[in-house]
Amino acid sequence: MQLTQATPAQLREFEQTLSQQYAELQAQGLKLDLTRGKPSAEQLNLADALDGILAGDYQAPDADTRNYGGLRGILSARELGAELLGTDVKNTLAGGSSSLTLMFMVLLNQYQFGCRDEASAWRHLKAPKMLCPVPGYDRHFTITEKLGIEMINVTMNDDGPDMDQVEALIKADDEIIGMWCVPKYSNPTGTVYSDAVVDRIAKLGLIANPSFRVMWDNAYAVHDLVENPPELSNITERCAAHGTQDSVWQFASTSKITFASAGISFFASSEANVLNFEKLYGVSTIGPDKVNQLRTIKLLPDLASMKAHMQKHSAILKPRFDAVLEALDNELGEEFGTWTRPQGGYFVSLDTKPGLAKTVVELADAAGVKLTAAGAPFPYGKDPDNCNIRISPSFPPLHELETAMKVLVTCVKLATIRQQLAG
Ligand code: PLP
Repeated sequence: MQLTQATPAQLREFEQTLSQQYAELQAQGLKLDLTRGKPSAEQLNLADALDGILAGDYQAPDADTRNYGGLRGILSARELGAELLGTDVKNTLAGGSSSLTLMFMVLLNQYQFGCRDEASAWRHLKAPKMLCPVPGYDRHFTITEKLGIEMINVTMNDDGPDMDQVEALIKADDEIIGMWCVPKYSNPTGTVYSDAVVDRIAKLGLIANPSFRVMWDNAYAVHDLVENPPELSNITERCAAHGTQDSVWQFASTSKITFASAGISFFASSEANVLNFEKLYGVSTIGPDKVNQLRTIKLLPDLASMKAHMQKHSAILKPRFDAVLEALDNELGEEFGTWTRPQGGYFVSLDTKPGLAKTVVELADAAGVKLTAAGAPFPYGKDPDNCNIRISPSFPPLHELETAMKVLVTCVKLATIRQQLAG
């Protein structure tokens, strides 16, 4: 039935049928969770060989990994990070289990102590601001808000952030000192930035405040779901071509490759940026967990082995993503919303009709299906159109995911029809 052409009587009938279906789902007493992008136990099992892999040999060529020291991490781990990020090993560091912690520290350093010297600290600005392509990763926004940095929404297009908008904003405001980017399989839209967008981002250092820094969070660099995955242009090379090496910090980690709580984080930037950051980093720690770095390297010595490992992840994840898309494709038409078809990453992003995301999340919750809070993928938790819902298919077992999707599509239909009936 075409909703726009349906008579009020037809709409009321449809609403009654859906309400009945919803009540039946509610009566099942479900307790399902589609909230966070966590790997499933099956995925984690793939890295179980980490346990005992060192067999008592803790010696890396450049360190006794059991001891203190080695702020930059062991060389083999840094080499892996450099291969993954496409950076120079000299300016690539391997850290502890969380890249998010490093992002927080890099921003804290720039805010409090300055990216060059004390005078360059963002706290001296009247209103430091960061650009946030939306929808985006909620934890990026939490860090930014915590530091008191204002966030400006930027439209996310199919090929990355709207660069006309980004450049215009930067030209108009000298206190825009940063931008968040998840360049491959963006969280949650799955967007892969085009070569042209990457090049324009690399050029921002030419027009922005000298303290402007792009936070290039390549969290999903190898999280492909398709056989011929899209290639991301190398931003290190683009920055070198434009002489803007200081304007980008890059991050990645193995947390969604091995164990989510026990990965290795990687970060890289220009030599000047790394030396500056080490002044704070070296105060906070004597060195990272090098034992974990060594055992991770034993399991995944190079990018090729990492990619082979990720194919096993893909085999587990693909049926889950297919189940989500099948439910959306079969049950919802354009009149109920639009959704992404990611080639990798961890999420499907669903846009309902404007004004309905909160209602859908509440309806699903009342039927025992937890969804990420509406608005979470936006700065300050405010989705201006109240339409975006982030679906995380990775964690629940397939049969639970299928049931959760049945609930979700019923809630979307019910909320849409009720909105239409209300006028
Ligand atoms: N960056 C993005 C875009 C993510 O989606 C996530 C986790 O979901 C992280 C970073 C967290 O990374 P880590 O576990 O290395 O802190």
